Amino acid sequence: MAHFVRSLAALLLGACLVLADGTHAAARGTRLSKAERAVLDKALSEKRFGDLRKELRLLALKVARRPKAAQEAFAALRADYLAKRTAWLRAAVAERFLPVARELITARARDKKSTASASLTWVRSQLGEHVARRIADALKASEKLTTAAVLEAWKQRKRGAWRTFEFPTGGQSQIVATRQLWWSTARENQRVDRLFQALLLDTKLLDLGKRNPKVPCKACRGTGVEEYFVRRGKEHTRTCRRCGGTAHAPATRYR
Ligand SMILES: [Zn+2]
Repeated sequence: MAHFVRSLAALLLGACLVLADGTHAAARGTRLSKAERAVLDKALSEKRFGDLRKELRLLALKVARRPKAAQEAFAALRADYLAKRTAWLRAAVAERFLPVARELITARARDKKSTASASLTWVRSQLGEHVARRIADALKASEKLTTAAVLEAWKQRKRGAWRTFEFPTGGQSQIVATRQLWWSTARENQRVDRLFQALLLDTKLLDLGKRNPKVPCKACRGTGVEEYFVRRGKEHTRTCRRCGGTAHAPATRYR
């Protein structure tokens, strides 16, 4: 894990250096002083985006009295700085969204007083907003980040690798009375899976990929048949109830 964090940090640093290079090229025509650029770079690297915007506004007033070419160069530079802020926000949100969603879902699944329908409604109508709020607070980006801005950054994120989600058994297409019975007797990880399924299928927060990718069914160990009972030394089998004999787990890809 520590190694992963270190490589990620190195990767991000590398990306910042590459970006910084482009910014300096754009800065040449603006007649900004070294000190003025240093203030912008420092605000950017320290993620003080509120300060970055303020500095850019002040510089825009100064540059407004300069020749047209300098003004145009400044406009390009400004767009460049703001694009970096946007790229950073998208990456930061992309990295946090699923872990935070899972954390909130787990807390909800642990809540013994919650009902199945209230929990599912909560996922469908409020979870995205809660995740966005949590991320906005965690980023402390020195500018007021609205949940709408976080959700937009999530929508525009750079897509990562597809992951696989196996649908939980039970609880999905039952009438409410039995669904609640299932909910109150299910294990915590089963309730987490059920809520995660609602996040995948009932909100538009994630991309859904291929259905039923070839993941071997765990119930029948990828054979499509399960042992039913053994009587007088004779083994009786039946079609696997989980995968319906396809030998593949009911699952979906998502990201
Ligand atoms: Zn099976």
